[in-house]
Amino acid sequence: MRGKMPVIATVAAGLVGVTAGAWPSVRDAPAAETGPSMRTQLSAVLGDKQWATPKPGSWTPDKPEASGLPPIVRSVNTQEKVVFLTIDDGYEYDAEFVNLVRREKVPILTFLTTQYVRGQGQYFLAMRNAGSQMENHTVSHKNMAIQAPETQRREICDAQETITKQYGRRPQIFRPPFGSYNETTRKMAKECGIKSIMLWSAEFYNGTSGPGVGFNGFARGDGAGKGFKPGDIILMHYRKGLAQQFQTILGWIREQGFRPAAVENYLPTSLGGNAPG
Ligand SMILES: [Zn+2]
Repeated sequence: MRGKMPVIATVAAGLVGVTAGAWPSVRDAPAAETGPSMRTQLSAVLGDKQWATPKPGSWTPDKPEASGLPPIVRSVNTQEKVVFLTIDDGYEYDAEFVNLVRREKVPILTFLTTQYVRGQGQYFLAMRNAGSQMENHTVSHKNMAIQAPETQRREICDAQETITKQYGRRPQIFRPPFGSYNETTRKMAKECGIKSIMLWSAEFYNGTSGPGVGFNGFARGDGAGKGFKPGDIILMHYRKGLAQQFQTILGWIREQGFRPAAVENYLPTSLGGNAPG
């Protein structure tokens, strides 16, 4: 998929001249105005953008499990040519990326590791205001499957509190670091108010190299070629150069006749999304 995107390269080049100026309205707000209560009020005014909802009957929503534990979601069961972009961690900040998401109006879902974003809360507030819900990716990015139950609980519940305070909405979806979890993870996630655990069906190794796919490579979890499939949940990361990398994957998505959609609108409310059920 690499090497055939002169159009995207041109678009990205055109963005270079744009300053980080589209989000200082948030970044430059006086500190006194960024406390939790103001954020909660702001969320009512600026908060989560409403993304297009899927046509009724165009997809099969996941269902809660009989066990009552949050189910594992790896993709969405749909025939529509939609894919879902999810971006993890929060260790790097590319101001241009916020502008790009705003301008292109692309729905993405963010999984935040709260310790990573220290001092950069405003960046993710701007992301939230660009329409990305903030979901839970633990406090410190530990491998959950090898942690004691109490550590797992703290990693998930404390991130819930921080994200709720900072972004005015309680996360409903959890993504375990490295995709590593066990039964205890699911129990602890449930105790913390999580409704589903979201993994992924493909990864875009944006700004890094993936095994066998090289720099900015793309790999399907099912190993079935290089293309997208309807309902793919795609893993990406907040890394340096994200704006340009994002242009790259948007180009691939459009070339293959797909479009990015908001995954939260394909999950029923019982699993932490916005769809009926
Ligand atoms: Zn991560």
